[in-house]
Formats: sequence, C-alpha cells, structure tokens
Amino acid sequence: MEKTVIEVQQGDITKVAVDAIVNAANNSLLGGGGVDGAIHRAGGPDILEECRQIRARQGGCPTGEAVITTAGRLPAKYVIHTVGPIWDGGQKGEPGLLASCYRNSLKLAQEHGVQSIAFPNISTGVYGYPKDKAAKVAVETVKSYLQEQATSIKQVVFVCFDEENYELYQRLLQG
Ligand code: ADP
Repeated sequence: MEKTVIEVQQGDITKVAVDAIVNAANNSLLGGGGVDGAIHRAGGPDILEECRQIRARQGGCPTGEAVITTAGRLPAKYVIHTVGPIWDGGQKGEPGLLASCYRNSLKLAQEHGVQSIAFPNISTGVYGYPKDKAAKVAVETVKSYLQEQATSIKQVVFVCFDEENYELYQRLLQG
C-alpha cells in the first residue's frame, strides 16, 4: 500500500483544489463565521441548501460527527462538515470529540472515494481550543487513522490560516 502524504499549507481552504475540504461547522449546520462563513460565501447557496436538507432529516450534526455535501462553486468536489468541541477547560471530553471530528471526516471521505482531503484547524477559532493541543490531536489522529485503515486517501493537507498554527503543524510534521 502506497503511503499517504501529509502536508501543511498556509492560506484559505476555499481555494485548495482537493477532492474534499472539511468545514468547521456548528451543530445547526446553518452556517456561521470563520471558516464556515468563508466556505458558504465562496461555495454559494447550494451547499447551505444541502445542509438544510440534512438538518431536516437528522436535526443538525452532533459534536464530533460529520456530514457530507457537494461543494457548489468551490474547486473541491465535496465539503465535509464536522462540528468541533467548544473548549471548556479540557476535562469535558474535548480531546476525544476533536479526534472524532478528524476520524469521522476521514471515514466519510473514504466512503466517497476521496483521494485528497484538506482540513482547517478545527475548534481553534471561535471555539477556543488551544492551538498547540488541537494540532497534536489532529496530527496524531490522522496518522493513526491512516496506519489502521486501508484507505483511498492519498493526500491529507492541513490548511492553516494563521502563522501560529502553520508553525505548530510544520514542527509536528517534521518528526
Ligand atoms: P471553530 O468554531 O471550530 O473554532 P472557526 O472557523 O472560528 O471554527 O476557526 C477554525 C479555524 O479556521 C481557525 O484556526 C481559523 O483561523 C481558521 N480559518 C478561518 N477562516 C479560514 C479559511 N478561509 N481557510 C482556512 N482556515 C480558516
């Protein structure tokens, strides 16, 4: 089995040409600020319409889980919407829930034959998860998932919007 490449990029995830980009959504799936707002703005109304349909069917998306839609006008084919935990001191299951976001997104990607996927730094904006802790969870979870599963995924990109995250991920992925 060929090894999956894990990369770091700095920039705007809406511009990344991969099969699937991941959105740091909220439980309502109805859009919000940060990367969620950027994805809906750049992708157009079709994504929100699909989110509304999913919400009507299953009542939104629980924290740690993920749903998939098409990607409207974005270069990607799919958007995987996952809901990160709100940081509340770290003793309320936040690490496990954040790991679930990465795992469930990869699982859904795999079920759709995705070969390349880009993640934002889930929960590290408005949801307040400390960036260094979140980066460790993200890298460890993706690496262990790829080691455990036979997967269609050939490329995983961590797209960092800010310099601090970019440096953290570069450091973690060097070793
Ligand atoms: P959360 O509510 O999960 O914290 P946010 O969207 O507030 O979600 O922040 C998650 C991360 O996404 C933050 O690190 C933020 O800097 C980053 N971000 C914001 N806009 C973009 C974008 N266009 N592309 C990639 N990352 C982004």
